[in-house]
Amino acid sequence: MSQAQPGFLRRALPAASPEQGESATAVLRDIKALVLPGLTHWQHPRFFAYFPCCASVPSILGGMLAAAVNVLGFQWAASPACTELEQISLDWLAALLNLPPNLCPAASPAAGAVLYGTASEALLAALLAAKARTLAGRQPEDALKLVVYATDQTHSCCRKACMVAGILHMRQLRTCSEQGFAMQPQALEAAVQADLAAGLLPCFVCATIGTTGCCAVDPVGELAPVARSHGMWLHVDAAWAGAFAILPAQREAHFRGLEGADSYDVNPHKALLCGWECSAAYFRDIQWVRRALTVPAADSPYLQNDRCGSGRFSLRLFEGPLGQAGDEADAGMPTAAGMGTTAALPSRSGLTSTSSTAETKAAIATISGCGSSSGSGGGEPAGRQAPASLEPPLERSDLDIVFGHGGFRGLRLWMVLRMYGANGLRHLMQHRLRMQSFLADLVAADERFELVVPPRFGLVCFRLRGCTNQANAELLEAVNRSGTAFLSHTMLSGRYVIRCALGGTLTQGCHVETAWRTVQRCAGAVLVA
Ligand SMILES: *Cc1c(COP(=O)(O)O)cnc(C)c1O
Repeated sequence: MSQAQPGFLRRALPAASPEQGESATAVLRDIKALVLPGLTHWQHPRFFAYFPCCASVPSILGGMLAAAVNVLGFQWAASPACTELEQISLDWLAALLNLPPNLCPAASPAAGAVLYGTASEALLAALLAAKARTLAGRQPEDALKLVVYATDQTHSCCRKACMVAGILHMRQLRTCSEQGFAMQPQALEAAVQADLAAGLLPCFVCATIGTTGCCAVDPVGELAPVARSHGMWLHVDAAWAGAFAILPAQREAHFRGLEGADSYDVNPHKALLCGWECSAAYFRDIQWVRRALTVPAADSPYLQNDRCGSGRFSLRLFEGPLGQAGDEADAGMPTAAGMGTTAALPSRSGLTSTSSTAETKAAIATISGCGSSSGSGGGEPAGRQAPASLEPPLERSDLDIVFGHGGFRGLRLWMVLRMYGANGLRHLMQHRLRMQSFLADLVAADERFELVVPPRFGLVCFRLRGCTNQANAELLEAVNRSGTAFLSHTMLSGRYVIRCALGGTLTQGCHVETAWRTVQRCAGAVLVA
């Protein structure tokens, strides 16, 4: 955690930019001496605050490549591979997380997926879609009657989304420790009834799997029937925890009932190593997002093109093992899965731009002895059939909240999925759960402390047993001031709780142990004082 004081950088740097350009050496010297000390190092293995925002070698490489080509993909034609690679990666991710078919674009024609920048953005898009759906066929002034339901544990971005979307009524249902700080279906039903009686229009329920404060899990399977019976949109925010669904046991335990959701969001930039910003949103019926966010064609003459029906959508990217089209191996990039096939090609030139994709595929099949995937995720994503590729391409500007979007962020997700493989990511998630148990055992073994909620999704919440909120706040303050570890806190039922989020890319057991020894040492000082 940076120990900088407010204004430190303004005092250290000149008031205006230089007249003459300076050398990179001079700039880098200042970055090292002045800027870096003012950063809190989110990738440090002893960063345990908030939730980790994990980077990795593939995400850094992907980010560098994206910055180098610096393309925009607000429409398919602006950079076709930008749109398509994003969709492919989202299909791959959906399969890894075992999402229900009705949320997967590869399995359901009505479904759609978007790689937004953040979970907040995804939630806002979902809310705008819900608003469009609820108001369809109603008077515009009914917008003033719309109601959103969340809990006191829901991320504050839900409140912000209501502010932006012009929703006047947001109910924060009270949660309690006895019910694991989860939303209760009966409480939701009662709140909806009260609002209906008051002449309001229930519109949107925001459920969370893995709340930010304590990783509570709202019972999506039980909330879905309530939402459905009142025509409400059910959004499931699994920004941090969603990645744990890659483990079958976790999926079974915490992710039931997702087929009842209208939208679902998980942040690959948190637990899935993709680096900031990268949030994967899945919609059961993407048309509502489009209806909410598509600008009339007359307002954007510069975007109109012959994008529909040209058949150009069947890019080679959809065809079998990568590397065959010559692009990837030529760039000297490592190909985890497709490499064997590429190397086996006797003459690549005849197989590249001149031949049709069908010929290429047939040739590859002949040479490699198999049609598609050769193992760990390098091949065709399951369920993506060739005919789908003839549909008009997805236009990102129809799904984004602002016109510009995050550029080629799909590259980072795609590179992480390829270079780690499902197996690598599963190991990573298991490692996090092991560290969680390790820390939970350490906390339980020191009777000065209590675990406040059952540890889950790598988050351990604890406090000094029988001590005031102030004593716990002093403890956290002392730990963070030590510079050894950085933790954060939350409030649960009026109690100050210290959170330790385990899951940084580089965090190992030894870092957890060091952090815990620091907490113990600081606790000694706080308890004496
Ligand atoms: C982190 C988090 C968010 C916010 O994520 P951003 O991508 O930063 O917008 C929302 N909801 C939950 C449950 C979170 O943990």
